[in-house]
Amino acid sequence: MHRNSIIELNQEAYQNNLSFLKKMLGKNVIFSSVVKGNAYGHGIKEFVTMAYNNGVNHFSVFDVEEAKIVFDTLGNNVTIMIMGFVADEDLHWAIKNNIEFFVFERYRLAMAIKTAKKIKSKAKIHIEIETGMNRTGFTKKELSRVAKYIIKESEYIDFVGLCTHYAGAESISNYYRVENQIKLFKEAVAVFKENGIEPKIKHTACSAASMMFPETQMDLVRIGILQYGLWPSQEVLVTYLNSKKKKTDPLQRVISWKSEIMNVKHVKSGEFIGYGTSYMAKEHMKVATIPLGYSHGYSRSLSNQGRVLIEGKRCGVIGTINMNMLTIDVSEIDNVKKGDEVVIIGNQGDLAITVASFGELNNQLNYEFLSRISKSIPRKIIE
Ligand SMILES: *Cc1c(COP(=O)(O)O)cnc(C)c1O
Repeated sequence: MHRNSIIELNQEAYQNNLSFLKKMLGKNVIFSSVVKGNAYGHGIKEFVTMAYNNGVNHFSVFDVEEAKIVFDTLGNNVTIMIMGFVADEDLHWAIKNNIEFFVFERYRLAMAIKTAKKIKSKAKIHIEIETGMNRTGFTKKELSRVAKYIIKESEYIDFVGLCTHYAGAESISNYYRVENQIKLFKEAVAVFKENGIEPKIKHTACSAASMMFPETQMDLVRIGILQYGLWPSQEVLVTYLNSKKKKTDPLQRVISWKSEIMNVKHVKSGEFIGYGTSYMAKEHMKVATIPLGYSHGYSRSLSNQGRVLIEGKRCGVIGTINMNMLTIDVSEIDNVKKGDEVVIIGNQGDLAITVASFGELNNQLNYEFLSRISKSIPRKIIE
């Protein structure tokens, strides 16, 4: 079947990003590739395959559904760590298949032990510490009890990690809060030590923290956005460039998103284009229709704002984005025709549409735009 659009993953760009990250990370720091949100829209199955082929063997996901996709794709060759939600009924699957998971409340710790006893196996857990994000994590006063519990049940618990997550390391405005989180995390480490128990690894850093607060790298980093070739924020990029002589972005975008023209139409001056009256042709115009809309993740807030590349030229979205279609002003392109390639994200000729450009147009973060790209669009690795 012919598809409305296709997403390409550029393996060379990914290799470039991995070697940049290798330089930024301490020598013995484990790299965990964060592939939640369908690998930030890149397609989890295809992305982890490409990552694995390039030497990555640790993956972080949000939930069991994502863990199962990585497991079904790569099996026991890699470590899979669930950072978020595991329902009681899924603990059995996770423990049986050596899937690691965050534990942030005593209930889950008890359930993990109970399930591990049933399977006669060990639950591989990461104890998450509340350091100021106020989302999930054990508070300091619970830790001593947790430590004693883990020691008592050590036959059924593999205490793999101690971890936390920072509340906005990508912005200097959160500097004080993050510094405080680092301090609280160190105190948590000390509590476990006092109780005579230590995790195998300690990990706290996402992309932004790894770059802005290198001491947070510890034994493992959980890197999402940087590996895809994008920055957590402009601030992190500028901070990095300020420390370098060469002022060029060292990362390369992995994703491209391409579609094609399904129809070209001539519209007379004074006519409205699409639903309602948000766009009126001020002169005779040529309009191309593209089989992509908000149901595919092309946000409706890009109505009359988005840009695409056709025939090596930048063209503007006109009218409102529909569920399955959008319209483009192609008046300036002479030989435009049905079937011509349309680049939503990526390069064509000398021009590029970046992921960040969507953020500039509609205040969506890179993260949000990417993770909303429809799962049903086929993904292809380009070598
Ligand atoms: C998403 C996430 C990360 C990765 O964040 P990036 O900014 O994409 O590097 C790391 N840790 C946790 C707990 C996360 O939820």
